[in-house]
Amino acid sequence: VPGARAHVGFESHIPSWNRLLGALPVAEYERLLPDLELVSLRPGRRIYDAGERQRYLYFLTQGIVCRQSVLDDGASAGAAVTGSEGVIGLAAFLGGGSTTSEAVVLSHAYAYRLRTDLLKEEFELNGPLPQLLLRYTEALFSQVAQIVACNRHHSLEQRLCRLLLSCLDRLPSSLLVMTQERVADVLGVRREGVTEAVGTLRMAGLLHSSRGQIAVLDRFRLETHACDCYPVGKREYDHLLADYRHAEVASTPRPVARVHTLPQPNAARV
Ligand SMILES: [Zn+2]
Repeated sequence: VPGARAHVGFESHIPSWNRLLGALPVAEYERLLPDLELVSLRPGRRIYDAGERQRYLYFLTQGIVCRQSVLDDGASAGAAVTGSEGVIGLAAFLGGGSTTSEAVVLSHAYAYRLRTDLLKEEFELNGPLPQLLLRYTEALFSQVAQIVACNRHHSLEQRLCRLLLSCLDRLPSSLLVMTQERVADVLGVRREGVTEAVGTLRMAGLLHSSRGQIAVLDRFRLETHACDCYPVGKREYDHLLADYRHAEVASTPRPVARVHTLPQPNAARV
């Protein structure tokens, strides 16, 4: 997981802060630039809802977004947090168009978004971007599978430590602006449980919490309190980043023109 950048204003962002876009060969990257639109995503905003058709793929450059599932009774549980190492809106290229989950902004985020129809053209070209996106999807699946096992077998306190560390990896400081209600939603537990776990960690001197904020005071000891899921998941992402670099080296220059070829009438013989 990349080190996060200090918070900067809208006008200072560049697409290559997203690790996937940053791993593209220069020619590919420059070809995509005119189609990327920068958006600011405030905390609490849902980027897409369950069942909603996804019209964009969001390449995050800063902040944190959580994918979560919501049940009929309104109860929710988060699956994975994503920062500048990834994208939001996988259904935009996996083909279904929508998912049963939603994506909620946890920490003020910025993203460059690409329209789904343009993304489909990229998949038809079969260049480095689709390869990177599929590799990212694979890493995300293993992350989600691990979190499912973690939620089943590890204590709330351990899971809270895992979540806090995953967020810290994607933030420029050790301060998380996040209410305990939000933390409870992400972990899929009752608010009272989070309050108790935060209290235990505070008494141990690992963090400080005040209204809507959690400041981590001792990251090293927080890591020792977390379950193994944190280091294992982090290693997975380090592999992913190594793969990003590999993709950059392995790719070859491609034509820069974007030509969307529709099937010609005389070619459609079958
Ligand atoms: Zn765990």
